[in-house]
Amino acid sequence: MTFALFGIQNDGLNLVVNLLVFFLFVIWLALIYWTYADASRRIEDPMLIGCATAASLFPFIGTIVYLIVRPPEYLDDVRLRELEMTAAEARLASLDYSLCPHCDYEVQSDYLRCPSCMRKLKERCYSCSKPIDPAWRICPFCEAETNAPTPSSTRRRRSRQTTDQATVAAEVTPELAEASETAEPSRRRSR
Ligand SMILES: [Zn+2]
Ligand SMILES: [Zn+2]
Repeated sequence: MTFALFGIQNDGLNLVVNLLVFFLFVIWLALIYWTYADASRRIEDPMLIGCATAASLFPFIGTIVYLIVRPPEYLDDVRLRELEMTAAEARLASLDYSLCPHCDYEVQSDYLRCPSCMRKLKERCYSCSKPIDPAWRICPFCEAETNAPTPSSTRRRRSRQTTDQATVAAEVTPELAEASETAEPSRRRSR
């Protein structure tokens, strides 16, 4: 209204000044709204949001002060970080879990067979019956040598290693395993 009033007076300087004042007034209103919106994204307490908005009523300085003291993070980010922390803790708690090398199903470290694809994961120690990795040379629980018992365990170890190297070779593996099984006893006798 004032802008229009002064406008008709055809005073160039007055027009510029009034435009400027009007412009600053609009920016001030926008800053109040922005402070309120920003505060409600960063602050949970409605009382504090009210304080921030009230502070922004002081033209410009209020908003600048708010910019300095406002919380650095959005509430959404804080919640997201807390969620991630909880997830990380859960992962740490279940360190005993790993993934099946064949089907990526979650298996526990002492599973003998994957419950999903039913493939052999661990052998049972012939001496103490604890689950041991076929790649281990001795049982870490009872110190029994793992390559000692039957040729069948050697056969499983070989096929396991082959599938680990390349899952593509999975079809070739049985033949290889059979060949190594037949070769195995003679080699052991000669040793
Ligand atoms: Zn599996
Ligand atoms: Zn053992």
